[in-house]
Amino acid sequence: MNKLYDVIVIGGGPAGLSAALYAGRARLSTLVIEKKKEGGQIALTSEVENYPGCIEDESGPSLIDRMHKQVLHFGAEVVYDEIEAVFLEGAIKQLKGKKDVYKAKSIIIATGASSRPIGCPGEKEFTGKGVSYCATCDGSFFEDFDIYVVGGGDTAVEEAMYLTKFGRSVTIIHRRDELRAAKSIQDKVFKNPKMKFMWNTVVKELRGDGILNTMVVENVKTGEQTTIVADEEDMTFGVFGFIGYVPKTDIFKDILNLDKGYIVTDENMKTNIDGVFAAGDIRVKSLRQVVTAASDGAIAAVQAEKYIESLE
Ligand code: NAP
Repeated sequence: MNKLYDVIVIGGGPAGLSAALYAGRARLSTLVIEKKKEGGQIALTSEVENYPGCIEDESGPSLIDRMHKQVLHFGAEVVYDEIEAVFLEGAIKQLKGKKDVYKAKSIIIATGASSRPIGCPGEKEFTGKGVSYCATCDGSFFEDFDIYVVGGGDTAVEEAMYLTKFGRSVTIIHRRDELRAAKSIQDKVFKNPKMKFMWNTVVKELRGDGILNTMVVENVKTGEQTTIVADEEDMTFGVFGFIGYVPKTDIFKDILNLDKGYIVTDENMKTNIDGVFAAGDIRVKSLRQVVTAASDGAIAAVQAEKYIESLE
């Protein structure tokens, strides 16, 4: 691609789309590069009730769909490509994707994070065959089956509640004896008759025969292992992993300052390289939410505009 953009945004989640909205509205030529589909993690979220203005029946995909339309309305372009290498020093930044090479005066990185794997034998083999990281995508496959959710944070508990719409039972497997999730969410989950809990427990192994049918769990206090086998009629059960996220910063290693894999920025979203900004879950911050991602994106775009003005 020969065009030199004012701003290229890498990533089409709430941070990237908010950045593109602000950049587009400021009449900057703006390109969003998204790997597959807009949305990032929020596109996998069944219910969004804490983004201002979202009250009932707002799903991640419906919110993202509106953000995407808004971005196009303000003139930003969107392409689908996976960036494999970045050249960020100097006045013209270059991004090398699988399909094309892209150039811009400034870059906003909003690549977010991906689901942390449970980390046990059999997990990879049975992903998509019983193991999932997306309740919205895969919950309906487990209609009237037993479902296990690994994790005790907000995501695990909210998605477990959502999965009770489908599963005969939903069991949270948590490595401690209390949930990390917000108390308001906990109140709901403890009242739900379909919910069960396995405390102080971790998953040690997942097994099956083409599809998942056996899970070995271990009590971390006693060391006792239990083998859970699928009901004979069901032949399988669902295991959903929600144990946090891993930042997608591999291509920025040795280029940008990172802290535990997250990009270090100042409060204006500036990284250690002039003209390069980071927004959303990818950066070091205290609260990773849609509302804070959107806020980061807006700040990054306004700062990118100032940076471009300073070049002229
Ligand atoms: P999180 O808060 O980091 O929770 C991860 C959970 O997984 C914790 O319960 C943790 O156990 C457990 N865990 C981590 N590594 C594990 C391992 N190797 N084996 C077993 N369990 C493991 O992640 P999250 O729930 O995805 O939330 C991420 C951020 O988004 C948080 O800031 C959260 O508040 C926010 N969020 C907010 C909402 C909402 O407000 N509606 C919804 C979703 C997410 P420990 O508790 O023992 O550490």
